[in-house]
Order: sequence, then C-alpha cells, then structure tokens
Amino acid sequence: MSKSYDIVVIGAGLSSLMFLSRYILKNKDQSILLIEKSIKKNINQTFCIWQGPDLIDIKKIYNLKPRHVWRKIEVSYENDTICRDISPYSYECFDGKETLKELLNQCKNKISIKQGLDVRKIKNNKGLIEVITKNVTIKTKYLIDSRNKISKEQYESPPSLQQAFVGNEIVSKNEQFDPEVIKLMNFSNNKKEVEFTYTLPFSKKSALVETTFFSKRPSLIDIKKLQKKLLKRYKSTKLIKEERGIIPMILDREFINNNNIPIGLSAGMARPSTGYSMMRIAQWVKSIESKKIKQDNINEFQFKPNKLLEWFDSIFLTVCYFWPQKVPNLFMKLFSNADIKSIIRFMSDAPTLSDIFLIILSMPKKLMIHGLIKKYVK
Ligand SMILES: Cc1cc2nc3c(=O)[nH]c(=O)nc-3n(C[C@H](O)[C@H](O)[C@H](O)COP(=O)(O)OP(=O)(O)OC[C@H]3O[C@@H](n4cnc5c(N)ncnc54)[C@H](O)[C@@H]3O)c2cc1C
Repeated sequence: MSKSYDIVVIGAGLSSLMFLSRYILKNKDQSILLIEKSIKKNINQTFCIWQGPDLIDIKKIYNLKPRHVWRKIEVSYENDTICRDISPYSYECFDGKETLKELLNQCKNKISIKQGLDVRKIKNNKGLIEVITKNVTIKTKYLIDSRNKISKEQYESPPSLQQAFVGNEIVSKNEQFDPEVIKLMNFSNNKKEVEFTYTLPFSKKSALVETTFFSKRPSLIDIKKLQKKLLKRYKSTKLIKEERGIIPMILDREFINNNNIPIGLSAGMARPSTGYSMMRIAQWVKSIESKKIKQDNINEFQFKPNKLLEWFDSIFLTVCYFWPQKVPNLFMKLFSNADIKSIIRFMSDAPTLSDIFLIILSMPKKLMIHGLIKKYVK
C-alpha cells in the first residue's frame, strides 16, 4: 500500500518550485510530495524579467541573485535603432540552474521528493486522486500539475503561435559587446514569420545571443541553421552553452477539475504575447500564498489572467499570425512613442489603466483595427 498525501505536485520546474517555496511557509501541516520525471536535468535556461516600482520583487521574495542587470534597452529594425534608458526599471537575468537549485533548497526539508517518476495517468478513485507512474501509484487529496498538456490542435489553431529560439552563450577574445545595453529585439526582414535576434551581453567579451521566431510551426533545426549563420558575425568566439526552447503563445488554458490544479504553461502562465512566465507565476503565487488548499476554496487556486490584457494579447497575436511582416514596425512605433515605464508594466502584467491607454495610442492604429476585425469576423 503506498502512502497517501495531502498534495502531490508534478514537475520540479519553475512554476512548481516558485509555488512550493512560498506555500510551505504558511502551510506546514499538509503532507506534500514533489514528483519529477528527470533524474539529472540538463538545465540551460536563462530566466529574464523586468524589475522596478510596482512589480513583484523576485530577488527579495524568492531570495534569488541576478546574474546581470541592465538599465538600457535597444530595439532595432533595418536602419533604425531605438535605445532607451529604463531607470528606475531594470531588465534582470537569472541563471536557470541556480534558480531552480535555490528554490528547491528552500523546500527540500519540508516536503518529500521523488525523482525518476514519470507520471503516466491520473485517476479519481473514491474522493482521492491516483497518480499513476510505471511502477507505483500514489494517492493524494489534491494535485498540482505542471506538465505541459497543450495539444497539437491548440498549438495549431489560429491565432496561436509558438516562440521558438536557439541561443548560445559566447565568449570572444575581442571586446565586441556593450554590457550596459540589452538588445531586446533586432528584427529581420522576414515576410512569413516574426524573426529577431535577442542579445544579452554579460561583459564586453561575452553574451548570450539568440535567434528567435514567433512561428506557426517552428522547426528548431532550421532555427539552428540561422543561429549558426548569426554566430559567424562575431569574431573569434568560443561557444559556452546552448539554450533552446519552444514556448506557447496561446490564449487557451486548462482549468481546475476534480481537485486537480493545473499550473505552468498549460494553465496559461506564459504570457501569450511574449512567452514570458516568471512574473505571471509570481503573481499567481502572491494571490494564493496566504491560503491553504481545501475543498471549499480550491477554485481560488485557478490562475486568472487580467481580462483586458488577454483581450489585447489576442489582437496582438492575430496581427502576428496574419501580418508578421508588419510586426517589426509595430514594435518600433511602440518603443519610440510610448512611455517606457508603461511598456515595462504592460509587459510584466502589471499595467495601470492609463498605461494600457497609452500603449493603445502608441500602436499603429490601422493595423490593430485590422487585427480587431480579423479576430471577430471569421
Ligand atoms: C530555454 C527557455 C528560456 C526561457 N526564458 C524565459 C525568460 O527569460 N523569462 C520568462 O519569464 N520565461 C522564460 N521561459 C518560459 C518559462 O518561464 C519556462 O518555460 C518555465 O520553465 C515554465 O515553467 P513550468 O513550471 O511551467 O515548466 P517546466 O519548468 O518545464 O517544469 C515542468 C516540469 O515537469 C516535469 N515533468 C514533465 N512531465 C512529467 C511527467 N510525466 N512526470 C513527472 N514530471 C514531469 C518536467 O521534467 C519539468 O521539470 C523560458 C523557457 C525556456 C524553455
């Protein structure tokens, strides 16, 4: 007979660990088991977020140290470059491996952890949930599930896109980067997909350089070929590591069902217009961390994105889906016209109404109206 738990959490990734590190502080009387399928994870992620006034202070709350902080950003397309000072805001990057290690350390002695268990099936049985793996079945009252269950149909139904990227951390003999300025988007002239380079310079001689696409059906093999070409632009470099990923840019999300709480990507915690999820996860955790999961409040644990932002993102995605060639100019207009603080709060899911108003005013109106019409008139 296997032991039964109050809560089983599937997946030791970002959403589960950010949740657990805060939830266990107030809820010491519930037995919690964390299950992870991988035994040794090869984590090459870099998590970046905006920080500053009115945004959740990730460093303080989660006790994390950023690897690098930037106070200037650059966006460019063809011959135009926009460089903006973002103080008092900053763009900060956290090493993925260190982040997950620190979060896991914060929960380690307060929960049980089982690695190497690949969850195959979930079954409800007489008021309990059965979490079925190859060799064991574990019973629990409540389940928190961070597995990505987004289906092929969801990924492929308009205006869903996927943010796909291949990046390399490079070190060179020459000084060829400016560590003060993060190159957020350097757009390519691509008629079929939104394509840009994202460069995080850590020093004058080292940077993470990524080829990124907002794509309907991305191919990491093709992106890797373009990335190889891109790297040739840099002189005498050595590759340190590679990071790659495909993040959903979709509006669909999973809902709580039979004491099973979805979190992470399937629950809509990746912002549809950007693919970023760390701030959304932090916002969700903040909204529930003082609560204890019980039968009568379980629906309060559902992740609910801001409705206005969701509507805005749906129009933005529609534009990216149908008119990708116009997206570089949309961003150039936004970054040259709008107040940078409004843009940052908007991208971090924490805009005021006036921020939203200002963003709308800074967008190319005709294009956004086309997006709006396309969204409603099928
Ligand atoms: C390379 C990369 C860079 C990113 N950069 C940023 C960024 O800069 N800023 C930002 O905000 N977001 C970023 N993201 C997006 C997002 O923050 C990450 O994808 C984040 O890891 C999502 O957290 P999660 O908990 O939903 O999923 P994951 O972190 O993927 O966690 C899910 C966990 O579940 C485990 N699992 C899956 N199936 C099973 C199973 N059957 N049984 C048991 N365990 C299972 C997996 O092994 C994994 O550990 C990035 C994503 C990638 C891939």
